[in-house]
Order: sequence, then structure tokens, then C-alpha cells
Amino acid sequence: MNNLISHPAIKKVLLTETDIQAQVQRVANELTEKFQDNEQRPVFIAALKGGVIFATDLLRKMPLDVDFDFIDVKSYSGSASTGQVKVVHDVNMDLAGRDVVVIDDIIDTGRTMQWLSDYFALKGAKSVTTVALADKREARVVDFDVDNYGLIVPNEFVVGYGMDYNNYFRNLPVIAVIDFDKLNLIG
Ligand code: 5GP
Repeated sequence: MNNLISHPAIKKVLLTETDIQAQVQRVANELTEKFQDNEQRPVFIAALKGGVIFATDLLRKMPLDVDFDFIDVKSYSGSASTGQVKVVHDVNMDLAGRDVVVIDDIIDTGRTMQWLSDYFALKGAKSVTTVALADKREARVVDFDVDNYGLIVPNEFVVGYGMDYNNYFRNLPVIAVIDFDKLNLIG
């Protein structure tokens, strides 16, 4: 068992490993249904680093022929959203005329996913589908609705299954709320 779960800074587990896999399967089914009759392979693009664990589980649950690529944008520092988005690593594929599916870990203010969606549309994508494991919809500052999501989370800082706090807890197998008062025990 991954003993990060018993770390003192883990305040409350929102979703167990079994619950996560059930939600990932549901999203995989939704996307399979959406793209199964496509003539062209959809391009799944995972946002680094947080979206990668979700994306790799999701892709393996879909009986679909897909392309897979990555993008790294920086929009966040510590636990407060800055509103700035900058491309650190761009996709390698030509997206003109392609159905793009963007996968991220969590949608908070909505700025990152809105920006990514606009960015891929500007690159000529035929369609852009947005997918996130967690939707923190109470925290939205832009008018953005994600197309497919795993679960709605409260307006608290969550970690695990790809989501980090300053690079800690990404490999926590559950999704949990952290206790900021106990974070000084990290490191
Ligand atoms: P947005 O642009 O929607 O405000 O933020 C999206 C990004 O912020 C996510 O991809 C994620 O990296 C980070 N983020 C937002 N809320 C949380 C949270 O509760 N926990 C973690 N670990 N990251 C978050």
C-alpha cells in the first residue's frame, strides 16, 4: 500500500482508488461513445504534469485508436491561481482538421482549460473536447463548462492521482484534501 495516505497533512480522502477507477471508466465510456465512429483518430493531449496519471488510465480503458501527445503550460504557483498561462512544452503534432481531446487533472478558475481550448482551436483543430478528472466548479472565474469530468470537488485544495502540492502527493493513489497547517511536516 502507498503509505502517503497516512501522511499527517492528508486531512480527508474524497475518493478511494476504487472510486477513482469507476469514474475514469465512466468518462472512458462517454469518450468511446463519442469517438467510436470517427473516420480519423482523435488526438488526446494530456496537460503535464497533473493530467498524465489520469490520461494514461483513461486511454487504457478506451477501445479506440488514438493519437497521444502532451502540452505543458504553467498557470499556477503553490496554491493560488495567477491567471497567467505560458506554454513550456508544445504539442508536436499538426492539429489542423483534427478532433482534439484535452485532458487535465482539475479545473479550478477555468482559465487554463479555456486557454488550452482556444489555443487548439487557433491551431486549426476541427473540434476540441475538454476532459478533467476533477471539477472545482465553485471556484470558476471564467464562464467555462468542461465537457467530461470525473467528479465535482469542493472549493478546497486537493491532491493525489496526479495533483500535487509543490510537487508532493502526485503519486498519492487517492484524491484527498490537505491540511495546510500540517504541511510543514513535508520534506
Ligand atoms: P485553473 O486555470 O482552472 O485555475 O487551474 C488549473 C490548474 O491549477 C490545474 O491544472 C492544477 O494544476 C491547478 N489546480 C487548481 N486547483 C487545484 C487543487 O485543488 N489542487 C491541485 N493540486 N492543483 C490545482
